[in-house]
Amino acid sequence: MSKLQDYVTQSNYIVFFGGAGVSTESGIPDFRSVDGLYNEKWKYPPEVMISHSFFKRKTEAFFDFYRSRLLHLNAQPNNAHLALAALEKAGKLKAVITQNIDGLHQKAGSENVIELHGSVWRNFCLKCKESHPVSTVTNAAGVPLCNCGGVIKPDIVLYEEQLDDDIMISAMDHIARADMLIIGGTSLAVYPAAGLLEVFKGERLVLINKSATHMDKMADLVISDNIGDALACFV
Ligand code: ZN
Repeated sequence: MSKLQDYVTQSNYIVFFGGAGVSTESGIPDFRSVDGLYNEKWKYPPEVMISHSFFKRKTEAFFDFYRSRLLHLNAQPNNAHLALAALEKAGKLKAVITQNIDGLHQKAGSENVIELHGSVWRNFCLKCKESHPVSTVTNAAGVPLCNCGGVIKPDIVLYEEQLDDDIMISAMDHIARADMLIIGGTSLAVYPAAGLLEVFKGERLVLINKSATHMDKMADLVISDNIGDALACFV
């Protein structure tokens, strides 16, 4: 822990890259973990139900699943989110790059948050592109519809959909400039995590994950702990 604090002291351009594990401590299940949604009994596997083709073909079933399992609007930031927001305010941390769609970093006070997979808090009409509050999605009985008749889609990246180029470039740009990269709550097995890390040229690579990853041997510091506990000293 003192090594982590030393690293932060020595760094002026910290970037954090986080996955599902950052939000599990806020009660949001990890989609890919054994404790996550894969164990649940649904008619289709979760990765099918949040795919682009399923959204197109079975829109109502998509929203049933989405509202009941993917929306966690009352979840609150944990120590990991709060610590990262504090490090940004202190001028140490320049960007949070997240694979999560829950908006908890912003709730904690982070400002520069790069959401690789979008956010449940943004929703727009597929026909006229108008923005709608998330309440339009939660309050709809079936498929949420715009006044124009178009289907409202959450601004999240579904399976079979491409990540946004500008967002990827922004993420890579920050990682390329970083003197310290903290990676937490991700197994790093999932695209695009591995590719993003290749552009890091800084001095200090820190991995925080409860289980080992294939990147551990490359890291300058590996912390095998809950990410909220590991970062609590910065709150
Ligand atoms: Zn519309």
